[in-house]
Amino acid sequence: MSRKYVTFSKNIFIPVTNVCRNACDYCVFKARSREAAYVTGVQDFLNVVQHKGAATEALFSAGEHPELAYLSSFFNNRVIEEGFTSLVAYTKNLCEIAIQHGLLPHCNLGVLSRDELKELRDVNASMGLMLETTAELAAHKNSPGKDPTLRLKMIEEAGKLKIPFTTGILVGIGEEQEDSICSLNAIKSLHEQYGQIQEVIIQPFLPKQSTAMWSTKPPRFDEMKEIVRAARAILPDEIAIQVPPNLTAPKELIVLGASDLGGISERTIDYINPESPWPGEEELRRKIAPFELRERLPIYPRFIKKGWYSEEISQLIERYADEDGLMREE
Ligand code: SF4
Repeated sequence: MSRKYVTFSKNIFIPVTNVCRNACDYCVFKARSREAAYVTGVQDFLNVVQHKGAATEALFSAGEHPELAYLSSFFNNRVIEEGFTSLVAYTKNLCEIAIQHGLLPHCNLGVLSRDELKELRDVNASMGLMLETTAELAAHKNSPGKDPTLRLKMIEEAGKLKIPFTTGILVGIGEEQEDSICSLNAIKSLHEQYGQIQEVIIQPFLPKQSTAMWSTKPPRFDEMKEIVRAARAILPDEIAIQVPPNLTAPKELIVLGASDLGGISERTIDYINPESPWPGEEELRRKIAPFELRERLPIYPRFIKKGWYSEEISQLIERYADEDGLMREE
């Protein structure tokens, strides 16, 4: 990927369900009670899709293995009402609807098996799973899915299946700096074997009210700078480093090697960080000037050139991508 530009994508963010088997100490997304739990129904999804504006990406996020969560009966009943029996089958249906409406899906549904990845592969332009960290942390003591072995295994399977993949690390959840270095090296090692990583997100922890880590301080900006600098030194140049512009100041991190700002949405909020609105496109341009901003698709140009996408989404990619594999400007 050319470093001539700083890239971003335009998405709609669909939280498929907030029922989750894990209980991370920093999370406000997971439903803590039956009253707070939801599954986004097909009709609600269509209402969002019909007002997608200029979005080209449908970002699907969900709690991990809701079928195994303590609110599993709520989840299972809601999904059965919609005509499905699992998170993956239901989300696949939403992906197909998204494609019919001109959106390229990107699913991040937590840890998935090889069979589940295979089921979703052809209806996704790319998929994702934050590694978060290779360290064992107190923040994850009630989260079996945050076992780094499971997460690295899924990233590896995605590589074997040739799925363009997004991963990343969380900074400030109790890890040491050497843990972050170890996490980045683990990502690098998987990429060297399979070539599947398109971007690595460096995401700062921000404390959320009513969570166990509410009184924990977020990482200092100079710590963020150190990690971005280290990531650029460790990761191969073809992997973009992404910093979320609603959670950190991007320009100084771009100077240190970040080159992507992730997805922003005009129509939907960041359900994982609901207190942090995304900047608009023009605001982003001003924030990062004189660096030039370019829109990309949820699949990076390199993977378009390599043909790592299915028949199901090929028409959309041809419609949207210019000769460099970025979003057409007209
Ligand atoms: S951060 Fe993700 S995995 Fe952890 S509890 Fe929240 S939704 Fe579940």
